[in-house]
Amino acid sequence: MEEIFAELIEMAGLGLLINDIVVHGATDKEHDSNLEKTLQVTHEKGVHFNREKCIFGKTEIPYFGHILTSEGIKPDPNKILAIHQMPKPKGPEELQSLLGMVNYLGKYIPNLSTLNHPLRTLLKEHRTDGSFQWTSEHNKAFANVKNSICKNLKYFNPTSEDVVLKVDASQHGLGATLMCDGGICAFASRLLSSAEQKYSQIEKEALAIAFACKHFHQCVYGQPVKVLSNHKPLESILSQGISVAPPRLQRLMLQIQPYNLSVEHVPGTSIPVADALSCLLLPEMDAEFKQETEVFVHTLFKNVPMSDSRLLCIKSSTKSDPKLSSLTSTIITGWPETRSSCSEKIQKYWNTCHELSIANGIVLKGDKIIIPATMHREILQQLHHSHMGMEKTKQWARSIIYWPGINRNIKEMISQCITCGCLQMQPWKHPLINTELPEYPWELGLLKNLRKFD
Ligand SMILES: [Zn+2]
Repeated sequence: MEEIFAELIEMAGLGLLINDIVVHGATDKEHDSNLEKTLQVTHEKGVHFNREKCIFGKTEIPYFGHILTSEGIKPDPNKILAIHQMPKPKGPEELQSLLGMVNYLGKYIPNLSTLNHPLRTLLKEHRTDGSFQWTSEHNKAFANVKNSICKNLKYFNPTSEDVVLKVDASQHGLGATLMCDGGICAFASRLLSSAEQKYSQIEKEALAIAFACKHFHQCVYGQPVKVLSNHKPLESILSQGISVAPPRLQRLMLQIQPYNLSVEHVPGTSIPVADALSCLLLPEMDAEFKQETEVFVHTLFKNVPMSDSRLLCIKSSTKSDPKLSSLTSTIITGWPETRSSCSEKIQKYWNTCHELSIANGIVLKGDKIIIPATMHREILQQLHHSHMGMEKTKQWARSIIYWPGINRNIKEMISQCITCGCLQMQPWKHPLINTELPEYPWELGLLKNLRKFD
């Protein structure tokens, strides 16, 4: 292949990048002749093109985040859409996110910080008197900031060895920034669907990575990419491997597996752009992507050896259980930094918090279902229905369900089980066999044996 490409590179009117070929010409005639030569060489070498992936006779083509046109190179509107269509901040928190992003981009874009002066004043006023009056002056400053960001983006260099994706997930959306050789090349953001908003924080962060990879596929596929995320547990769970992850996270990990990523944790303040994008979002949805992830989770419930009615019962009991409903909201909003700042009700789950997720209103630990307290007794009885031994019962339980202290509960139940007590194997007792009494002295025993020596 390299040999063929080497020959093509030598040809006039031809650009070659990774495995993309662009044939061009100043006039139609020149273009046609260059194209003909290219097709001839590739045909001789036995190279086949996919007809659906070829575009012919265009005056403008998207190419690695650029638009190549007859007038020169233009930035691809898709890569700045997230900034162009960014809605104005609705409150002081969103404004703070925006200003964080502007401050950060100020390093790359000259005069950006002076453009946002009215916005900074607005935030300062809010801090002193609690007011938030968004006026036409702020609208103008916001538009200027957006324009300046879009005009000053760097072109993506496909041969660069320094490609970085900065990703972040907020409660309602995802944001991503593509950087290359220290400069910003493109932005992307999208809203989370109502189902995705119920994902655990770690799942949302993984979803942000999968979204960024898919969105910037052309730039990040096939080369080492550093991913910066502000979610520390993600870094460790991704390095531990798929088996310990909850089912949805497993699916997301599979989706990012084709990419050569190294995920690094950075404090949230280091990724203000992704953070602001994830708060001020574009309503972009990828139905197919979402469906694929959810199908994987539904398959899990199909394979669980439990009836639909029992699953429904677990779902409704989870909702009414104070511990599990508190656990559910913590999983969705994110865990606190330390165990001590975590609600006492759910501290028992702290050590395994990154294995927890929610699917269909049921809390999962890995791929095991967490049973609400009101159903423990009923489930224990079901588990021990056939009076299997201690180890077998524990093994069976471990494969499908979980609650803190389940092993101890199984042990207590079996030790109190009357049936198991009766059936327990007793050591075999030999019956007592009496020795036959002799009729005369010395008739049996020693004397009998001694006689043999006569
Ligand atoms: Zn028993």
